[in-house]
Amino acid sequence: MLKRFIAYYKPHKKMFALDMLASLFISLIGMVYPIVTNQMLNDLIPNRLYKQIVIAGAVVLVLYILRMLLRYFVQYYGHLVGVKMQKQMRSDLFAHLEKLPYSFFDNHETGSIMTRLTSDLFEVSELAHHGPENIILSVISIVLSFSYLATINIWLTIIIFVCAPILCFVASLMRKKMRAAFKESRAAVAEINDALESSISGIRVTKAFTNSDKEEEKFEVGNTMFVNARNKAYKAMGIFHSTTTFVTDIFNVIVLLAGGIFLYNEQIVFADYSAFIVSTNLFLGPVTTLINFMEQYQNGVTGFERFLEIIDAVPEKDDEDAEDVDKLEGHIEFKNVTYGYDDESDVLDNVSLNIEKGKTYALVGPSGGGKTTICHLIPHFYNIEQGEIFLDGKEIHKITMESLRRNIGIVQQDVYLFNSSIKENILYGRLDATDEEVYEAAKRANIHDYVMTLENGYDTVVGERGVKLSGGQKQRIAIAGIIALRPDVIIFDESTAMLDPKGRADVLDTIEKLNREYGTTILHITHYMEEAIRADRVIVIDGGKIKLDGTPREVFTHVETVKAAGLDVPQITELMLEARRDGIDLPADALDYMEGADAVEKLLK
Ligand code: ADP
Ligand code: MG
Repeated sequence: MLKRFIAYYKPHKKMFALDMLASLFISLIGMVYPIVTNQMLNDLIPNRLYKQIVIAGAVVLVLYILRMLLRYFVQYYGHLVGVKMQKQMRSDLFAHLEKLPYSFFDNHETGSIMTRLTSDLFEVSELAHHGPENIILSVISIVLSFSYLATINIWLTIIIFVCAPILCFVASLMRKKMRAAFKESRAAVAEINDALESSISGIRVTKAFTNSDKEEEKFEVGNTMFVNARNKAYKAMGIFHSTTTFVTDIFNVIVLLAGGIFLYNEQIVFADYSAFIVSTNLFLGPVTTLINFMEQYQNGVTGFERFLEIIDAVPEKDDEDAEDVDKLEGHIEFKNVTYGYDDESDVLDNVSLNIEKGKTYALVGPSGGGKTTICHLIPHFYNIEQGEIFLDGKEIHKITMESLRRNIGIVQQDVYLFNSSIKENILYGRLDATDEEVYEAAKRANIHDYVMTLENGYDTVVGERGVKLSGGQKQRIAIAGIIALRPDVIIFDESTAMLDPKGRADVLDTIEKLNREYGTTILHITHYMEEAIRADRVIVIDGGKIKLDGTPREVFTHVETVKAAGLDVPQITELMLEARRDGIDLPADALDYMEGADAVEKLLK
């Protein structure tokens, strides 16, 4: 861990060395005052050397002015180095986050991740800059002060230095308690941020349900938890500070007493005695610094540990022999795929599918059946362990994720728009698309006319997650983004769910055009009969299994499944009649499941 921490100093070696040097001078200058005092008491004053007294004063003053400048340098540049290291860690963390798989974000809340990127790293940078300064300089000061004190009186010096290990022992004992308490408080902060994230994002829901009281209550619980955790941390801190300062106070008492006894026995002269008392701070100063530093050290180390936790999370990685694909034909095949998000239960159960290139597929079935999961496996968002998925006959692991995802467009079930302009959101699919292409895509997604009615047109900012747009408008913008990207395979995950019947018909036209004009393979998850009917093939998914896979006519004569899929009855009836007319065999009991079966029966006769 230390090695990884030190690596972050590398780019700032020079500045850091200067910073250290400046700090070294600061502590050396700190030693001057007691030394000069010593000289005054022992030499200059008794010998009435007025001129030297004035010179000594002037020297101290000049040195203090120098120290002021050095302090400015250390404060300013030291922190700057710290914050630059913090920047680097934050960049590394963010870059790493971008590489982590879907599953990581399924299991880590935004608030916690934010805490790590902000306050945790702040503590780390504080440690980065104050840490070495404190450790190295304190150690140097302690050694120097020992040598200096020893010249005044070796026995007194030995006495206080022998006591030092006791202080260290007490401090490290306290530190352990503090460490545990700080870790807990850090976790509490992260948890609070999660809760806050969730509450603030959901504030509209809260208002709609007039549940502010409940939210406040929930918040209070978290807030109290935070106080409790901090309570423990502060308690540990209080004990730590009071006992360690008490121990240093004892040092002063020891010097006072032992020195007094020495003086009484005439083993030390008065001037040395007083000089020693003044100089004890030379030793106690750095010792106190070291002790206080432990707290900062604790914060920083905890922060860095939490930083490493994410940095060490396993990123998505292409197989060694994975190859880039330039274009996809769009032939997708699932072979005995069994998948579960966790070890406990399988969401997909031995799924085999053959999706031919250039055709349109409607994926239907009850909610929670596994439709979205199937679609998320195709761009390799999750890793499957059982079974295989092929694209154009190539096993999915043998294709780089980058090139795979570039060629597969997916309009997610919950559309996410970035808080930027409409144009930027459409461009997100393909950053190098021209304005013309953006407009064209928007026209195809039937959003262009609406955008033109806006005062700022395509530059209109959509608000956080696109709150300033209706659900249908958001879906259309997402669809426009995919059209601009023009991938070889497009997945629409309930992309028409928020549209009115006219809007749905428009989008369906768009989908069919994409398929006809560019030969795009299309998977369309839908709950609407009229959409499913128009697909080349319909796949019914229920309980993680493929229940049916065929042409709309073949599938929709299996009434039971259709009803489970939530499709409406009159349209099924019509399809069945048509099927009957065309001489397709209907399942014998098909009609038994239908509402209005009598009417159908009559018609059939
Ligand atoms: P559908 O799209 O057909 O409604 P999904 O594929 O979204 O269904 O979900 C199938 C099952 O997988 C559901 O039981 C759901 O609870 C579960 N599931 C979906 N996403 C996750 C996830 N990220 N982590 C854990 N379980 C999930
Ligand atoms: Mg879904």
